[in-house]
Amino acid sequence: MNDLILMEHEASEVIRELKKHGYEAYYVGGYVRDKFLKRTIKDIDITTSAYPSIVMDLFSHTIPTGLQHGTVTVVMEQFHFEVTTYRTENEYVDHRRPKEVQFVNKLIDDLERRDFTMNAMAIDIHGKIIDPFGGKKDLNSKILRCVGDPLLRFSEDALRMMRAIRFAAEYDLQVEQNTWNAILLHREAIKHIAMERIYAELDRVMEGSNTKKGIQLLIDSELMNNTKENLHIQKSNWSAFSGHNVLNSFQSIHEGTIKWILLLLMLKIETNQIKPLLKKLKFPNQKIMKIYAVKQVINWLNEQTYSEKSWKEAVIIYGMDALKDLRTLLNALDHSYLSWLLLKMNEEELEIIQQKGMDWIEEIPIKHLRELEISGNDIVNLKQKSGPWIRIVLNQLLTEVALNELENKQKDLINRAAQIVRGMNEYE
Ligand code: ATP
Ligand code: MG
Repeated sequence: MNDLILMEHEASEVIRELKKHGYEAYYVGGYVRDKFLKRTIKDIDITTSAYPSIVMDLFSHTIPTGLQHGTVTVVMEQFHFEVTTYRTENEYVDHRRPKEVQFVNKLIDDLERRDFTMNAMAIDIHGKIIDPFGGKKDLNSKILRCVGDPLLRFSEDALRMMRAIRFAAEYDLQVEQNTWNAILLHREAIKHIAMERIYAELDRVMEGSNTKKGIQLLIDSELMNNTKENLHIQKSNWSAFSGHNVLNSFQSIHEGTIKWILLLLMLKIETNQIKPLLKKLKFPNQKIMKIYAVKQVINWLNEQTYSEKSWKEAVIIYGMDALKDLRTLLNALDHSYLSWLLLKMNEEELEIIQQKGMDWIEEIPIKHLRELEISGNDIVNLKQKSGPWIRIVLNQLLTEVALNELENKQKDLINRAAQIVRGMNEYE
């Protein structure tokens, strides 16, 4: 049995067990939607009339994931299933969270609290679909529609506007007119949503398969000009590429990080604004560094003649990954956009980035400080005090070894280090 069949089997056991004890239980939410669309299934959510305490009693391995919201994770073999008690949400606070949830005993009431018609379907144990809001019909017509009054639904929870864009992009759906109008009317409410949540949705657009559409919807909705922390991106910078063919490039890039780099270039974000902007969006540090390094390489290349030496130096200073990421970006980009994106490269230089430079890199004997045959300890005595000079000297040694100007042998390295330090002393 493959993993999905096994997972579905275990989930059906959960439903059977609940039903055996007199409770209702259904598959629900994303699983139902993705099953209907024959898309990859990541997880299976279950909704039930049983209260969380009962779910915890019925299964031997459970995790109280969100008891106050009615969610218990049931662990079966290697699978985790979120089992949530039928509930409605009453008053909402801060345009995001319900003040309290109320457990109810009718499936339809639970489905009604869900965001979009395609997410408000359930399937019973025999495979019958329960679809009170026309989710199936909407999916067939490729329409994304709120359950109920969109104005109300977005004012209850403003995150739904971001979810709308993410789903419309990923599933290539047309946002139904009233739903779309409600986003335009309520877009300022996005300021109530934590930046972490905004980032999570944006990143799914960037990692997803239809980033082009997601970005067009972000432009049209102006949601990104209303976030809690001001991203300081000019509206005109967004609208400059509305409907532009350059958006097609996103469809030729398969790595989310590279798409982010392209977006930042398009939005004309200055190098010194990249880190503050990505920090506001709560990017993980590693990802910030990766993106920043590519931007630095671009700046550096813009000021260089592309000699073998300067190219190899770039590897040492910015790292191999940054050069490869830039190459990936350039491979996906129609060259007519280069100057528009402030990528000042001619055909010859592009060839170096895309091919010749990569061959040169292969010839570099070592690329990292850790590969040097000496470390800071071996040269610390060359001056009276340790300090940043050690790293400067090591970097210089690395560059010289990388350029084949020096051998990576302990004795040679120490002699050369002493020479560099003497040179430094003369200037102090
Ligand atoms: P995916 O897991 O691919 O993001 P999903 O539809 O399973 O898609 P989840 O965030 O896992 O999304 O939520 C599960 C279900 O809970 C949704 O299908 C929807 O019915 C409901 N839901 C989730 N978030 C909201 C929300 N903010 N407002 C209303 N209903 C929601
Ligand atoms: Mg899910």
